[in-house]
Amino acid sequence: MDPLSQPRADIDRLDRELVRLLAERLEAVRAIGSAKGRDPSAPLRDEERERALFAAWARAAEEHGVSSYFAGRVLREVLNWSRRDQERFLEPMKQGGPRAVRVGYQGVPASYSDLAAQKHFATRDVARLERIGYRGFAAVADALEAGEIDYALLPIENTIAGSIDEVYDLLGARRMTIVGEEVWSVEHCLLGLPGASTEDLRVVRSHPVALMQCTRFLEGLVGVRSESFHDTAGAAEAVARDGDRHVAAIASEEAAREYGLVVLRRDVANQPTNITRFLLLARERESFDPRRPALTSLTFALNHRHGALLECLKVFEANELNLTKLESRPRPEAAWEYQFYVDFQGHLDEPRVAAALEGLRAHVNHLQVLGSYPRRAEEGLELAGRARVPLEVAEPPTAAGVPAPGTAADGAKPAPTTPAGAACPAQKVNPNLKLVTRREGQADTIVDVSGVAVGGTRFVLALGPCAVENRAQVLAAAEMVKRCGAALMRGGAFKPRTSPYAFQGLGFEGLAYLREAGRAYELPIVTEVLHPEDVERVAEQADVLQIGARNMQNFALLKEVGRARRPVLLKRGMSATIEELLLAAEYVLAGGNQRVILCERGIRTFETATRNTFDVSAIPVLKSRTHLPVLADPSHAAGRRDLVVALSLAAAAAGADGLIVECHPNPSEALCDKDQALAAADVAELVARLGPVVAAVGRTL
Ligand code: PEP
Ligand code: MN
Repeated sequence: MDPLSQPRADIDRLDRELVRLLAERLEAVRAIGSAKGRDPSAPLRDEERERALFAAWARAAEEHGVSSYFAGRVLREVLNWSRRDQERFLEPMKQGGPRAVRVGYQGVPASYSDLAAQKHFATRDVARLERIGYRGFAAVADALEAGEIDYALLPIENTIAGSIDEVYDLLGARRMTIVGEEVWSVEHCLLGLPGASTEDLRVVRSHPVALMQCTRFLEGLVGVRSESFHDTAGAAEAVARDGDRHVAAIASEEAAREYGLVVLRRDVANQPTNITRFLLLARERESFDPRRPALTSLTFALNHRHGALLECLKVFEANELNLTKLESRPRPEAAWEYQFYVDFQGHLDEPRVAAALEGLRAHVNHLQVLGSYPRRAEEGLELAGRARVPLEVAEPPTAAGVPAPGTAADGAKPAPTTPAGAACPAQKVNPNLKLVTRREGQADTIVDVSGVAVGGTRFVLALGPCAVENRAQVLAAAEMVKRCGAALMRGGAFKPRTSPYAFQGLGFEGLAYLREAGRAYELPIVTEVLHPEDVERVAEQADVLQIGARNMQNFALLKEVGRARRPVLLKRGMSATIEELLLAAEYVLAGGNQRVILCERGIRTFETATRNTFDVSAIPVLKSRTHLPVLADPSHAAGRRDLVVALSLAAAAAGADGLIVECHPNPSEALCDKDQALAAADVAELVARLGPVVAAVGRTL
C-alpha cells in the first residue's frame, strides 16, 4: 500500500472537518451579527474580546506544538471574515431580491479587479452577483452612468505603483459616488501550461505594472523576454489559448485556475507587500451603519495663490480630521492649476466634517464630495501582517477646534462693510441658504475669473456686444473693449430671444469667434449658456458661464453649471425676488461650484418708461446677505442707451463690485438690443464718469 495514501485520507477528512467547523463558527458569528443589527447602541467591535481570542489561540497553539504565529495569521483571517460577514445584518442591500446585482470592473475574469469584486460582495447581502468585465476604466464608468451596471469597482492606488491617475480623473469628471472600498493583497505568480517548466521559458506576459513589480525575478530568467499585456488575467488567458509552453504569464493563482494553467512559481514580486485599493462606485449615495469606521473623499480646486493649499489643510487640522490621502491632478482647463483629492477619516454626517466643509468653501473654487463609505484599507495591512488590530481613536472636536467660518479668500481684503458704512439690521435667515449666506464677520468671496478678481477692491467692467454677429464684429468689439480698459469681454453666442423669429445667435461658431477675440486681446470672455447639455462644451471655451434672467430658475441648468469648472454669472430673473436669486445661487454652490457672481439686471414693474426697473436696492441687500460678488447690468435694466451711464453710477455708489454693459462697434446695426448698446464715445464717457464714484466708495477702476 502507498505509504502516502493513509495520511492523505486523514488530511482530506480533517479539511472537511475544518470547513464544517468554520461553517459552525459562522453560524455563531451570524447570531451575534443579527443581535448587533437589532441593537444600534451595541458596539460593533470588542477590541478586548479580540485580544483575548488571539491570546487564547496562541496559548492553545503552543500547547499543541503549533506555531502561534501561523495560527495567529489564520485566526486574523477568520476574524476579518467574521467581521465582514456581520455587515450583512447592518445594512441589507437595497438590491436584494431576485434580481442580480451587477458589478463592472476593468479586465477579464480572474483579473485582480474581478477578484476584489468577488471578495467585496462575498459578505454582502446579495442574492446573486453578476460580474461584468470591461476593456478600460472609462468604459466601466460609462456603463455605470448608463445604468447598465449597479456598481463599478475601480482600482485607485497600489502600495507600490501609487495612484492610478486615470481613475482619479474619472472620479472628478463623472457622476459617480464612492460607496465602498476594497483591498486586495496582490500575490503575483508565474503561470504556465501544465507540464511546462521555467527552463522552457522564452516569453513572460503580463500587465506592464506587474512586470515592473517582478523585475528582480524576471532578471533571473536568462534569455526570457517580457511582453506587455492589457491585463494580468488577459495574459494568462492568452498563454492558455496559444498553448505554447515557452510562454508564461504573471498573474494571480486564481487566474491559473480560471484558464487551466499551473503555478510555476509563487510570490515572484520584488516587494512582499503589494496591496491594491479599489473604490466601489454607484450612481447614488448609500447609507451605512454609523458604528462602522468611515472614510470621506473630496475633491477641490484652488486658485493659484500663495498659501492656498495650506489654508485648506489647516481646516482639516482645526477640525481634527485625519487625512489619509492627498493627491493632485492637473486641470486641463487651467494650466498649472490642480485638482486636489483628499481622503480623511470621518463621515459626512459628523458635525466636525460639516464644519470642515464649510471652512473649505471659503478657500476653494470648486468642492465636490465624492462620498462617505466604510473603511477597509487597514484590513489590507492586517492581512499583510503589518498592523495590529487598529484602535479607533475618534474624539469629538473641541469647540475651539472649529475654525471661524469663512476666512477671507484674499487675506489682504478688509472685512466687508455696507457702502455707507452702516451696519445692516438683523434679517431672518432662510435656513435653505446654507452656502450663500454671509455669516457674521465673513469676508467677501473673491471670484477668480482666469486671473481677474471679481469682488475685490478693483471695480470690474465687463463690456461687449449683446450678441456675437460675425467674426469681424466681435473682433472690432474686442478692440473697443480693450481700449477702454475693461477687464472682461461679454458676448452672446446662444441668445434667449422672446421671439422665435429674432436672431438666435451663432451658437458654437459664435463662441469660437468670441474665444478668438478674447485670446487676441487678452480678455477673459463671459457668455450665456442656455442648455444643460451644452454646459461642458461651452465651459471648454468660455471663462465665465452666464445664466440669463430667463433661465435663473432652470434648475437642471443650475445643477449642470454647479458641476462645471468655470465661474458662473447668475442674472436675476425679471420676476424673481432677491431670495429666489439667492436660492438659485445656492443650487450652484451646492453642486460644487463655489465661483458664483450675482447680477442685478432690472425687474418687471408697472413702469414702462424703461425696459425694466433697475432695482438699485438689490445691490446693498445682496451685499449684506451674501458673501458672493454682485455686478449690475444697467443695459438690460434701462433698455435705453441714454440711461446706461446714470444707472452705472448708481450701481457703483450702491456698492456693486462691477458692471456688465452692452456696447457695439456700430450700435445702429446691432442685430440684438441695439437701443441699449453703447458706442465707443459712450463707453469713454462711462469710464470717465465712473472714476470719481468708484473712488468715493474706496475702489479702483
Ligand atoms: C444678455 O446679457 O444679453 C441677456 C440676455 O441678459 P438677460 O438674461 O439679463 O436678459
Ligand atoms: Mn442683450
